[in-house]
Amino acid sequence: MENLLSIEKSKPGRRGVRFEQAQKHDYLPQNLLRASAPRLPEMSEFDTVRHFTRLSQENYSLDGQFYPLGSCTMKYNPKAYDELSVLAPFANAHPFAPESAVQGTLQIMYELQELLKEITGLAAFTLQPAAGAHGELTGILTVRAYHDAHKNTSRCEVIVSDTAHGTNPATANMAGYTVVNIKSAADGCVDKQALQAALSDKTAAVMLTVPNTVGLFEKDIREIADMVHKAGALLYMDGANFNALIGLAKPADFGVDVMHLNLHKTFAAPHGGGGPGSGPVGAAKHVAPFLPHPMVEKKGDAYTLNDEIPQSLGKMKAFYGNIAVVLRGYCYLRQFDANTLKNIAEKAILNANYVRAKLKGKFDAFFDVNCMHECVLSIDPSKMNGVHTADVAKRLLDYGFYAPTIYFPLIVPEAMMIEPTETESKEMLDAFVGALEKIYDEIFANPQLVHDAPHTQVVSRIDEVSAARQPNLRW
Ligand SMILES: *Cc1c(COP(=O)(O)O)cnc(C)c1O
Repeated sequence: MENLLSIEKSKPGRRGVRFEQAQKHDYLPQNLLRASAPRLPEMSEFDTVRHFTRLSQENYSLDGQFYPLGSCTMKYNPKAYDELSVLAPFANAHPFAPESAVQGTLQIMYELQELLKEITGLAAFTLQPAAGAHGELTGILTVRAYHDAHKNTSRCEVIVSDTAHGTNPATANMAGYTVVNIKSAADGCVDKQALQAALSDKTAAVMLTVPNTVGLFEKDIREIADMVHKAGALLYMDGANFNALIGLAKPADFGVDVMHLNLHKTFAAPHGGGGPGSGPVGAAKHVAPFLPHPMVEKKGDAYTLNDEIPQSLGKMKAFYGNIAVVLRGYCYLRQFDANTLKNIAEKAILNANYVRAKLKGKFDAFFDVNCMHECVLSIDPSKMNGVHTADVAKRLLDYGFYAPTIYFPLIVPEAMMIEPTETESKEMLDAFVGALEKIYDEIFANPQLVHDAPHTQVVSRIDEVSAARQPNLRW
């Protein structure tokens, strides 16, 4: 009864607001008028509000629960930015408005570019890409434009480590490159011998996710950059998870040539649910001329869009990019000074290591070393009474926690990737660890309980095979 869809709750004649009988107008052409009334649910306003309010409460959300979704940086994003990012002068600007009418928007774009340059040490940034993966594509096409300009026509390969985010090889492939995968070393970082063996005059770029997907910093990155450059290739850094590095390290200092950031995740735009994103791409001086046009530039007191960039790879997105997300990133970087940003990264790292250390002995990290902003556990069913990672994740829902990312990264068997972020309190982390400890005890006392979880949710364990093979899209 409680879960009936509104269409099933419909009772003929029930209404919410009653309007005066609409006057009949004859300005609509007769053939465009509908012949019969639409089939809409008939409900009172009260029942409708309750229905949708209850539905909203059946979802997990960052505003309601701890959301330790690894690789997604589900942190607190100031609510004030919600209003700032939809201010009418930005939101209502016409895409074809002349530059003189959108000086404010251009100024903010310009200043955000400058701020991103400062935190990464790179020479130029474009704000066009609409997501992280789109940023990667932009970055790798920038690499191609660079090699084309240098007549490096034999460079047809992109080397990707197995600790890279899955979008990295997909991007290289989409950009027309052959992907060369290299295995990581036993410590979870790049295997330098494997890298050296893969590098050749066919290599266009090496793509590294930093921190990598097992939550570790590539400790030899400086040396790796030298190897890459010696081979005549460029070093691409996937900086989507910059929350771990912001204020602490500048990628330009360790030899990165091109990189992207995710304004969603690190810079105050919520990530998840596939909402609009922004994946700015930065480049070192020798690669900057190949970034997409237009570039936002400052001429005297005026801001202008420069389309005259002869070596640019072209346009990657119509108009200005996702301005609402750009605005949020701008607010974030203007609100906090360098020290606070550094503190944000340090707290994110501290929180991940706190969770990792507290769980040790019950749920162990796959690589037993200090991690960056997230820790990756591996839950071995043969030692856990047959319980799998998915079971533990589902049981966490019963305890009121959104489940962490599971079965990613692929190189960790039965992975559970926990990213607490800097915005969670010690009390919350203790409560989360406490829930996992209780689940650990349940695994040995009553494994079936964990295996059949969740027990308290609106929807219990889903038959994933049927859901994929015979999806009911009209429930
Ligand atoms: C999230 C993420 C991406 C992709 O970003 P999207 O905006 O989802 O396309 C790429 N790399 C890493 C490391 C990420 O965490």
